[in-house]
Amino acid sequence: MEDPRRELEYFRDLGVADLFLDAPASASTTLSVGSMPDLPTLSKFLEGCPRCKLSKTRTNIVFGQGNPKADLMFVGEAPGRDEDEQGLAFVGKAGQLLTRIIEAMGKKRDDVFIANVLKCRPPNNRNPEPDEVATCRPFLYEQIRLIGPRVIVTLGTFAAQAVLETDEPIGRLRGRWRTSQGVKVMPTFHPAFLLRSPERKKDVWEDMKLVRDFLAAK
Ligand code: URA
Repeated sequence: MEDPRRELEYFRDLGVADLFLDAPASASTTLSVGSMPDLPTLSKFLEGCPRCKLSKTRTNIVFGQGNPKADLMFVGEAPGRDEDEQGLAFVGKAGQLLTRIIEAMGKKRDDVFIANVLKCRPPNNRNPEPDEVATCRPFLYEQIRLIGPRVIVTLGTFAAQAVLETDEPIGRLRGRWRTSQGVKVMPTFHPAFLLRSPERKKDVWEDMKLVRDFLAAK
């Protein structure tokens, strides 16, 4: 039967009262933190996510990538245009600078895990909105639990505030150890900010030396 209306009427006349749309079983299910066995299952659980309004405008969900058992995890704000197109975190200009920061610490991108607070791009790279952070943050927390890093580096104001659940300004947060989910957190500036203000690179390098030395001490 080609005509969808006729098809629906046919089933109605048969007495069918419920219509099940073809969406992933988990598509609107709330995540219960602690319930996922591994990252691939969590990523699958997020497939087709309709939980916030960003689902209407994104191209790809950007789950994050890297070593699933990394000692060190970087958390940014949200995917930008390049990330949305490719489905990968930090692959644009800011991502290239992040790669150089990681390499300056004596590591490779593949050694660490890179994710964002929001898994979908806000239109025109606008700031994340509180409801979007509240909806998406449990997925980040589940990633943190499954990866079990020794250190999380948050990149920029939004990542620091979201991960630390605070509204303190980045100027006060950066360069000082904090804790979230039982993991040490080092807030630092966002690489996109460094592209605009290269004179602040030395601050980030001071923060990354603290992280490098902590990880080296075992
Ligand atoms: N900025 C972010 O915060 N995250 C990305 O993945 C890219 C740019």
